[in-house]
Amino acid sequence: MGRTNKDKRDLYYRKAKEDGWRARSAYKLLQLDQQFHLLSDISRVVDLCAAPGSWSQVLSSKLASRNNSKIIAVDLQPMTPIAGVTTLQADITHPQTLQQIRDHFEGELADFVCSDGAPDVTGMNDLDEYVQHQLVYAALQLTCCILKPGGSFVAKIFRGRDIDVMYAMMSRFFDRVVCAKPRSSRSTSLEAFIVCLGYRPIEGLTPRLDLNLSTDEFFARAGIRGGGVFGGADEVWEEDDGCERCMVEFVACGDLDDVDSDATYRLDDNAVRLEPVQRPTAPPYKLALDKKRKGELAKR
Ligand code: SAM
Repeated sequence: MGRTNKDKRDLYYRKAKEDGWRARSAYKLLQLDQQFHLLSDISRVVDLCAAPGSWSQVLSSKLASRNNSKIIAVDLQPMTPIAGVTTLQADITHPQTLQQIRDHFEGELADFVCSDGAPDVTGMNDLDEYVQHQLVYAALQLTCCILKPGGSFVAKIFRGRDIDVMYAMMSRFFDRVVCAKPRSSRSTSLEAFIVCLGYRPIEGLTPRLDLNLSTDEFFARAGIRGGGVFGGADEVWEEDDGCERCMVEFVACGDLDDVDSDATYRLDDNAVRLEPVQRPTAPPYKLALDKKRKGELAKR
């Protein structure tokens, strides 16, 4: 019974294995879609930071019957193939990755870009939030270069102290920006998703990625200064002076009768532990495990 412990503690983890999803994150995208109808009427999608691939599985199942649909999934880690999805092992912060995505879309723009990206966490909240947000800004940069006007963008964020800088940044590019918390995301976690609808390219700006241009410089060219203080925008945010902060709508999504991600459930007495749908192909801890197996990690 001990082997079913994680299944009980996290019913989404258990359910993902029963439903054939590679990760429990699938339910986050499904609940976001239920609320915002992100995946209706779209055919070209970029799934950033996609491994092991549960979001790509959701995208593939939703777009399967549509003509000429194209899904490209990008991650630093290799991904086991998914029907209808082109996988690309690459760094989303590198300009070459954008070129590879463009080549795949043969010059057409994407309808939807999503990023569930997360760097390795250190446990130091401020540092983790900073690094996470740099990844979201990199995803936004790439999105500005590939998303069609009116298109949507969703990214995982951590709602830390400086999250309004992120809200303000997104509000410059999109008609509607919402902070959404799917029921499958633990309420004890700072994780949420920024849902950006109605992409509005900045007039006169042809966004391009350049290895020699930092994220700050990229946004500065769009008239947005680092730190979130804008010239000429409605939303003004200034550091530490207690004045106006950029706020966005907050929406909790998923049905109330969906599983509660913070509760422990009683499984059927005959429940057996299910194997994961897809084991990680090249997890960062693989080297350590190999060494442990060979006795090379023995304590002195
Ligand atoms: N959405 C995925 C799913 O449903 O299976 C889960 C994504 S997982 C939480 C976060 C992923 O972000 C990891 O696979 C990691 O390799 C990827 N990642 C982090 N930084 C990246 C980067 N710079 N470029 C590409 N992928 C990155």
